[in-house]
Amino acid sequence: MRIQDIYLRQLSIPLKKTFKTALRSVSEVTTNVVVIETDNGVCGYGEAPPTAVITGDTNGAIHGAIQERIRPLLIGKDIDDLGAILDVVDRAILHNTSAKAAIDIALHDLWGKMLNQPLYALLGGIKRKVVTDYTISVNAPDEMVKDSLEAVGEGYTALKIKVGTDFHQDMVRLKEIRSAVGDKILLRVDANQGWTPKEAIRIIHFMEDNGLNIELVEQPVIAYDFEGLKMVTDTVNTLILADEAVFSPRDALTLLTMRAADLLNIKLMKTGGIRNALAICAMARSSGVECMIGAMMESKISVTAACHLATAMSVITRADLDPPILCSADPVEGGAQYDGPAITLSKGPGLGITKINGLKPV
Ligand SMILES: [Mg+2]
Repeated sequence: MRIQDIYLRQLSIPLKKTFKTALRSVSEVTTNVVVIETDNGVCGYGEAPPTAVITGDTNGAIHGAIQERIRPLLIGKDIDDLGAILDVVDRAILHNTSAKAAIDIALHDLWGKMLNQPLYALLGGIKRKVVTDYTISVNAPDEMVKDSLEAVGEGYTALKIKVGTDFHQDMVRLKEIRSAVGDKILLRVDANQGWTPKEAIRIIHFMEDNGLNIELVEQPVIAYDFEGLKMVTDTVNTLILADEAVFSPRDALTLLTMRAADLLNIKLMKTGGIRNALAICAMARSSGVECMIGAMMESKISVTAACHLATAMSVITRADLDPPILCSADPVEGGAQYDGPAITLSKGPGLGITKINGLKPV
């Protein structure tokens, strides 16, 4: 099965409600869909959304990396040689993890199709259910309480609360949400780098002293401040999850060696795809550190790939794969199927995606 062509398409899906974090505000998923065509007519799908404030990748950068650097090196290559092709992709350009992830996902999709197996099975996994949390955007406290109660009413048992815009307001938000949803709901807090290390320690101590029973706090400090992250992790009892701090396997190695975080959040757009994510999983497992699987504001194509990884890797104990739920439509047929917070995968080969509607030329 040889690669005959690689091309890009645009996919836009409005969100049900504007998604707000300490870093950005988004009202639709806009993503670059990669299609890899092979000589026997089978296509592999991948995608890369432009999350410039997190990965540094814009639409133009994603297009340039794929069209100018990666595509010319891949035409004619045999999918049988997956490992060697992924090495070529890795060396084609520095950074550009979103573009590399899109290609890596499409190649893994083709690999599964070539071997006529679902990707999770080829990754050594068993068929099990992945349960996602539900993200509450950062807003005024009363609006966040309302959103939290709605999500609980829809059956979500774990909420990821976005904070980090204002240190004092954040304490009010968390206290009010906990008192509204009761004790049985799992609360995860994502500061998206919004606090200094000392602010983080103060606010997490506030959560602990007030019995808010927070499961974990995600990326409290700026991404590059590994020492600050470690200071927070060492000082508080609450679990600390590294997100923007961990892109590559090398980042993971450093954080794990430093013991700078209790947990790692893996996102394919940060790692550059499945292969690097597998490397992070192996290192985390060897260090006794569990992982979360997350996603950017992506469509169901790459979220399905993330779900295959989570299904295969027992070290991934938590999932934050709610973007398809936040979308007002689902143009992707097959792949991950959502039943409230429960996600299941089909037994179809590769990603199991059968059709993508609404693709537009770029
Ligand atoms: Mg995060």
